[in-house]
Amino acid sequence: MQVLRKLSNQELEISLKDLVQKERRLLHVILEHIKEIDSRKLYLEKAYSSLYEYLVKEFGYSGSAAMRRIEAARLLNEVPTMAQKIQEGALNLSQIGELSRSIKEKEKATGQRVSAFQKSELVAKIESKTTLDTQRELAAALDLPVKEFEKQKMQKDESLRLEITLSKEQHQKLLQCKDLAAHLLEQKHMDSSWASLFEVLADQYLQKKTGTSSKTLTPCRTTADVKANNNDNNENKEYSVNISNKTLTPKTRQMILKRDTCCQYQDPKTGRQCQSTYALQTDHKTSRWSGGKHEPQNLQALCRRHNQYKYKKEAGFL
Ligand SMILES: [Zn+2]
Repeated sequence: MQVLRKLSNQELEISLKDLVQKERRLLHVILEHIKEIDSRKLYLEKAYSSLYEYLVKEFGYSGSAAMRRIEAARLLNEVPTMAQKIQEGALNLSQIGELSRSIKEKEKATGQRVSAFQKSELVAKIESKTTLDTQRELAAALDLPVKEFEKQKMQKDESLRLEITLSKEQHQKLLQCKDLAAHLLEQKHMDSSWASLFEVLADQYLQKKTGTSSKTLTPCRTTADVKANNNDNNENKEYSVNISNKTLTPKTRQMILKRDTCCQYQDPKTGRQCQSTYALQTDHKTSRWSGGKHEPQNLQALCRRHNQYKYKKEAGFL
């Protein structure tokens, strides 16, 4: 796509927004086609045993992509108001998948059909929500039972398949551990799965033999907060570092990450702050080669991607 290289950043973004809008409209039209094919049972005529098999074999969809589209097309049939929400991007296929699964679970548990009216109410509840929020909303609205039993199954290679339910607090604590262990996972070439995290935590526990931390989640610190506190003498004292050192000491890095708690990168136009807590690194606001010092005021936490982006921008690669 040579032509894209010639576009300005603004033109590129406008073009992508336009395409995403078209993609959503197209998705809706595709779902309407699937709905019509479903009602005509066209796939049977074409010697496919199911709409699923037809979509996979005739159109090359993956199994999960076909399933999601079928679920969405059938729900669209019952809740026509979904069409507009799909076009607006307020409802995506993974949310519709969650909705469909939850409705099935409810119907199986009660032996009663969830009405079209109830379904349209559920659609309104999950509008513009993330997948996790969608799951929570649906579980609450349909009063789905909380699955508390832990299941474990030993497999032939002696691995253990584990299914557990975490409380909200346990989940948050482990997410915090995942952020803090991101560097370590990367160093060890491990993926970011729960299994890898548990391994890292277990290794450290076994090594140090300490109890688990009851530390609560630290809220993400905004750039404005950090700036205000930088002017505070007490805070500066706490974060004072030896500016004559050639490189930052691990202690200083730790102090800055503890101070900032999240990525401080801001969009220069909108002021939006990234706030990611994943794979944080310490950055010199004014880089070392431009005379930037190791002073706390000149240091900030950036996520790895923004650190790389800032470097490339400053070095003239972007
Ligand atoms: Zn970032």
